[in-house]
Amino acid sequence: MKIAQERVSTFASRGVRRRVEPGEGSSCARCGEAIKFSMKTPAHQIIANVYENGVWNRVEHFHDTCYLNAGLPYGNARD
Ligand SMILES: [Zn+2]
Repeated sequence: MKIAQERVSTFASRGVRRRVEPGEGSSCARCGEAIKFSMKTPAHQIIANVYENGVWNRVEHFHDTCYLNAGLPYGNARD
């Protein structure tokens, strides 16, 4: 099935806010730094499912602050 090029607008890309769990090794899509689990201060990350041309393309991870600083690229992340 051919997908029309006009449908570039994001289909259902959205972010959710999650606690960083031990053993996760993602890096932030904005700053490139590792998103690390911390025993002292619970860290949160934004996990975004990114759709391109209406088709799921990838998952991106962000520090929650980076996501805010980026202007909520995939909408207001929900808990
Ligand atoms: Zn970051």
